Amino acid sequence: MKITLLGTGTSSGVPVIGCHCPVCMSSDPRDRRTRTSALFETESTRIIIDCGPDFREQMIPQTFRRLNAVFVTHEHYDHVGGLDDLRPLCVFGDIDVYADPLAASRLRQRIPYCFVESKYPGVPNINLYDMHPHEVVTVGDIAVQAISVMHGKLPILGFRIGNVAYITDMKTLPDTEWELLQGIELLIVNGLRYATHATHQSVEEACQFSEKLGSPETWLVHMSHHVGLHSEVDNQLPEHVHLAFDGKTFNVDYDGVRTLS
Ligand SMILES: [Zn+2]
Ligand SMILES: [Zn+2]
Ligand SMILES: [Zn+2]
Repeated sequence: MKITLLGTGTSSGVPVIGCHCPVCMSSDPRDRRTRTSALFETESTRIIIDCGPDFREQMIPQTFRRLNAVFVTHEHYDHVGGLDDLRPLCVFGDIDVYADPLAASRLRQRIPYCFVESKYPGVPNINLYDMHPHEVVTVGDIAVQAISVMHGKLPILGFRIGNVAYITDMKTLPDTEWELLQGIELLIVNGLRYATHATHQSVEEACQFSEKLGSPETWLVHMSHHVGLHSEVDNQLPEHVHLAFDGKTFNVDYDGVRTLS
């Protein structure tokens, strides 16, 4: 299975409009971060996790083929603002969207024209489904398990796909969820900046989380410009923790999701 990190930035993206800090002014493409999203694909199946406002730009360089499903972590705009741009991909068929019941209800309010009986021509053909923590949804040959993570006080979804965990906008992981993340070999997780934040892990908290989980390989996403220059910061992190960057790909062995009885 191939994983492509389509975006690795926080809600404002990097560069931040109007900011002249060294990161926002950097010419290193690894310092340019669109909003956080990832593509998981096998030969027959393609899904993305989150569909933010940079989705259109992120998908232009990708192969134009069917996108089977979108898994939504939560309803914040930086994670769902690109759903209307699913339009061109609907030539291959309807796209299933999975979100927790709160996020799904908010999406029905936010883009109601996608869910009416007689739709305006060209509107994306989205089938929206509720997904609950611990539930496994199988799309083609990719099985996705939802994990409950806390975005401050808001419970949102993280996902486990095989031995890969994809968690963004997390501050803390409830005790109940650690067991579902046993055996993770690749952790993609949010690390916003160095200073603590009420609803996001800092870089240090992300490193501690990775350590506690025992993940042999961890890549940080949902980063702000306060993280610093990729060329300077990446080699200061623990050996198994890396700053991700837009376009980073992974090829992982995939043998289906590990579910707990
Ligand atoms: Zn976010
Ligand atoms: Zn800046
Ligand atoms: Zn958020």
